[in-house]
Amino acid sequence: MSDNSDVVVIGGGIFGCTMALHLIEAGAGSVRLLERDGLFQGTSAAGAGFLASWTPFESEHAVTRYGMDYYAEIQAEGNDIGLRSNGILWLDTRASSLQEISDNRGQYGESATVLDPAAIEVLTQGLVTGSGIHGGLFEPGGAQVFSPKVGAALAERLHRHPGVVESRRPVTALRTRGNRIVGVETTTGTIDCDAVVVAAGAWSNGLLSSLGIFLPTAPQITSRIITENLDLPSTLPALFLSGLIPEDPDGGTLLWVRWHDGALLWGGTYDTYPRNALVDTPMPERLDEIPYDGVRELLRVAARADIAMPVLARQSSITVKHGVPCYTPDWRALVGPVATIDGLYVLAGDNEAGLTHGPGYAKVLTDILLHGTSDLTSADDWNPNRFGDRYTTETAVIEAYLEYQKSYTATSS
Ligand SMILES: Cc1cc2nc3c(=O)[nH]c(=O)nc-3n(C[C@H](O)[C@H](O)[C@H](O)COP(=O)(O)OP(=O)(O)OC[C@H]3O[C@@H](n4cnc5c(N)ncnc54)[C@H](O)[C@@H]3O)c2cc1C
Repeated sequence: MSDNSDVVVIGGGIFGCTMALHLIEAGAGSVRLLERDGLFQGTSAAGAGFLASWTPFESEHAVTRYGMDYYAEIQAEGNDIGLRSNGILWLDTRASSLQEISDNRGQYGESATVLDPAAIEVLTQGLVTGSGIHGGLFEPGGAQVFSPKVGAALAERLHRHPGVVESRRPVTALRTRGNRIVGVETTTGTIDCDAVVVAAGAWSNGLLSSLGIFLPTAPQITSRIITENLDLPSTLPALFLSGLIPEDPDGGTLLWVRWHDGALLWGGTYDTYPRNALVDTPMPERLDEIPYDGVRELLRVAARADIAMPVLARQSSITVKHGVPCYTPDWRALVGPVATIDGLYVLAGDNEAGLTHGPGYAKVLTDILLHGTSDLTSADDWNPNRFGDRYTTETAVIEAYLEYQKSYTATSS
């Protein structure tokens, strides 16, 4: 069986869903979104949903602002996506680090202000104990959404366009003639098309490898925890809490914590096993059987929060969701055409900020696909071909990423 579409988007996470919607709304012709599983069942299901300026790069600020407006519009349309503009509060239990945070306040956003412990206790309605911290930095522009609700709202928007979404239809191969894309093969037949956007998250390299293409991205396992209802106030700002284990290098894993339906939604970037378990390894089809060792590490750190945020240290019933964000050597995404194959585009390398940046990247890539350039911001920094063939393994990408992180931290402190 063969049918056809003008553009095929592969992957129904935040990247693929917003890409398909932008293409449809920009009049890109017939658009098909193919998802192997259900929409928002991959990494996007696990996202913590913080929206803020995560990087010092101007082009990312443009997509961040775009994303914030995009989510505000969805919520204003009557979809509850859990959008809350409660700001983000950066806390550190160590006095020395507070100084560092305030010295670098520019990096957290122009409106960030340093707060003393008493002001923080008031802002968090006593959930953060003033005596357990030295102060913090509050960024009032930060917001939060709940990713499964975002997925539901985008699915509803997509389903207004019959025939676009095909769930449970895995793409098994990309079809080319010469150096041109001509279609995709799926488990239930071929679709002919003029353009393909690969937005398959951590599975993207698996799809592209048969064409000899390696995107310089590397999968990093990350986990989100949600507690039982603790009757917490919905006004709680999103918190980034570091220094809980002073005897560990860098004060232990940084934790992020936010309100969710009276409960805490939290996690952190553990660098212990299984963080790298999928690097240079075939991706599993689903992410629900990932080992829990990283979660144990997060719980170990949270148990030490009793001096700064007792409610986080409290034992409670939890649910856990894992995701696999993909990092790039220079923290910048891969958004644009693949040089070697006409009609092939990628939207990848989310650097764990895909919920924030996804709608903006989708807008930029739609503009590029239809007009060659975007009026939102230049996409030069996200050119997927910018590394040439410098990276051939995910291990090398991670090494470069960590090196870049070290040099960035050194220059900004
Ligand atoms: C714990 C955690 C916390 C996070 N916190 C934040 C945050 O606070 N703020 C933020 O901005 N970002 C955050 N992120 C990052 C964000 O969730 C990701 O950047 C984003 O979800 C990546 O989306 P994606 O569409 O690229 O990937 P996915 O959501 O994984 O989508 C890819 C899709 O492609 C499908 N697919 C794969 N292969 C095929 C195939 N062959 N055929 C068809 N379909 C296929 C998959 O089934 C999947 O649904 C967090 C992530 C995690 C895990």
